[in-house]
Amino acid sequence: MAKEPSIEISPKYGTNPMRGICAFCGKENGTIAMLGRIRKKENGRVIRDSDIEAPKTGVIDYTPCDECNAKMNTGITLIGVTDNPFSPLQPAIGKDENNEPMYPTGSWIVVSEEFITRNFTPETAEGMLNAKKCIVPQAVVNDIIAAYDKAEETGSNTVSTGDDDINA
Ligand SMILES: [Zn+2]
Repeated sequence: MAKEPSIEISPKYGTNPMRGICAFCGKENGTIAMLGRIRKKENGRVIRDSDIEAPKTGVIDYTPCDECNAKMNTGITLIGVTDNPFSPLQPAIGKDENNEPMYPTGSWIVVSEEFITRNFTPETAEGMLNAKKCIVPQAVVNDIIAAYDKAEETGSNTVSTGDDDINA
């Protein structure tokens, strides 16, 4: 018989629920996580006696909401990542070549297929075109946004950004 996943109930906060938000726009997406007892970590060490209240909302997984997904499906999505979570509870989206966890920064862009073939080696481009959604270092996203701003000045706009705050 399969063992059901269990959570440790928090003495102070019970099931300690957190409502899920879309990692790409921050809107609530109808998911909920029962986090139970959350222990504080300090310098990578778990404080055994600690018992933290879950935030009201947070990122549970990286499934985009319908609105973001529709936007992403208009091209190839580049999701900016760093090795720093923006909250201690943020789950990793994947691992880098050194097996270190990577966390989305919240900044992402949708580019055209032509943009990919023009700016990456054929092998890399092929992989990106197949994947449709790609994790890239935040620095790459920043470079593309900078190029986009320049292109906008000259009227040859080929990139749309997923995060309006980035251009603010
Ligand atoms: Zn969204």
